[in-house]
Amino acid sequence: MAEVVVLGAGLGGVLQAYELKAKLGKGDRLTVVSKGSTFHFVPSNPWVAVDWRTRDSIEVDLRPIFARLGIGLITTPAERVVASENAIVLENGERVPYDFLVVATGPDLAFDEIQGLGPAGFTQSICHVDHAVGAAEAFRKFAEKPGPIIIGAAQGASCFGPAYEFAFILDTELRRRRIRDRVPMTFVTAEPYIGHLGLDGVGDTKGLLEGEMRGAHIKWMTSSRIRAVTDGQMAVEHVDDSGTVAGSDDLPFAYSMILPAFRGVKALAGNEGLTNPRGFVIVDKFQRNPTHPNIFAVGVCVAIPPVGKSPVPVGVPKTGFMIESMVTAVAENIGLLLRGQEARYQATWNAVCLADFGDRGVAFIAQPQIPPRNINWAKEGKWVHFAKIGFEKYFIGKIRRGESEPFYERLTLDLLGIRKLKEIHPAA
Ligand SMILES: Cc1cc2nc3c(=O)[nH]c(=O)nc-3n(C[C@H](O)[C@H](O)[C@H](O)COP(=O)(O)OP(=O)(O)OC[C@H]3O[C@@H](n4cnc5c(N)ncnc54)[C@H](O)[C@@H]3O)c2cc1C
Repeated sequence: MAEVVVLGAGLGGVLQAYELKAKLGKGDRLTVVSKGSTFHFVPSNPWVAVDWRTRDSIEVDLRPIFARLGIGLITTPAERVVASENAIVLENGERVPYDFLVVATGPDLAFDEIQGLGPAGFTQSICHVDHAVGAAEAFRKFAEKPGPIIIGAAQGASCFGPAYEFAFILDTELRRRRIRDRVPMTFVTAEPYIGHLGLDGVGDTKGLLEGEMRGAHIKWMTSSRIRAVTDGQMAVEHVDDSGTVAGSDDLPFAYSMILPAFRGVKALAGNEGLTNPRGFVIVDKFQRNPTHPNIFAVGVCVAIPPVGKSPVPVGVPKTGFMIESMVTAVAENIGLLLRGQEARYQATWNAVCLADFGDRGVAFIAQPQIPPRNINWAKEGKWVHFAKIGFEKYFIGKIRRGESEPFYERLTLDLLGIRKLKEIHPAA
């Protein structure tokens, strides 16, 4: 009998629990350690931040579902992982031993690396539903007294799609309210060019997104580094190709949402060989930590090197499709190890994403992530907006139903109609 523990109940952790449950033997036990009992669908946070969704509509109470599926749920967060003792110590001091651990803790949001950044400072965030609810409240106040908006992604960020999404969603919402003419908008990003996305572009995301921004009258600043934020003012430095500061701006704002850099969560620290200097979990091609081979990792917490050098550091995004492929590989590998066999499943780490702009959007597929690619495709259109709503409904429904079938692959195939994608997923 084996104790299998998943740490984190976000997008990666919940999918992992569902897929793992189907692979375990009769006597094996599966437990998820989570911060609370609720799952929320992170990709819908931008919609919560403009009141297009309520928080309730994107949250799922995991307790009845896990009880039905026979998955244990511990709702006290982990204080630390003690890899040398194969145990997690919870914040209440209790210990949770494991034979296999899957880390799915997502990002720690590094707001503190820039003075004044984040919900505790002067900018909004959409990374967590709590933040999105706060951002919605701030937006309601802003709409009564409109002024300049700054949207963007800070130095070291690895998640850019949602920043573009949110800029265009705000543009759509402001047009609907007939106040767009009173709102100068600026997009401030660490990316070396618009549409880089941490992936050195996908298809013509540069041309597509620049065109969209020109069309929406959103000005942009690339290779930019935020020095500090004060109430209504953002100090930004512009870095040239040699890495030297070539200029600076003090930008006024009445509303701002900036995605921060990510790092690994504190609970993983202090374990030799488990994480890289930024706190992300080091994994081999089977999603397994080389130093602690009974620890696997999926999702944003996984260490992935950047695609190349840029004047201001940017990281690689980890999107749902990629995360699901990690989840499937881990479920298969732990299943094999429990039956005395060797791990052999590998995740694809490809990027597939739908970026919603409120009434249209851009979809892209990067396979592999690092160029040159076999599939390097991006398209825009109204259909992306409706496809994204389809994704949301389907995904939240899947979490509620407790389905173990991989989801992104099937839906991507259905929605994009590109059967060729099957070639790029190992489970296909
Ligand atoms: C605003 C936004 C929009 C996005 N939109 C898309 C999109 O449209 N499409 C797409 O493919 N990808 C999107 N992504 C990227 C990615 O799919 C999401 O970030 C996704 O939520 C990552 O899943 P995860 O499981 O790695 O992390 P998370 O979903 O963040 O889950 C991590 C979980 O671990 C828990 N945890 C952390 N520390 C502990 C601890 N010590 N003890 C217990 N639990 C802990 C957290 O509470 C959380 O529940 C988006 C990301 C963001 C930020």
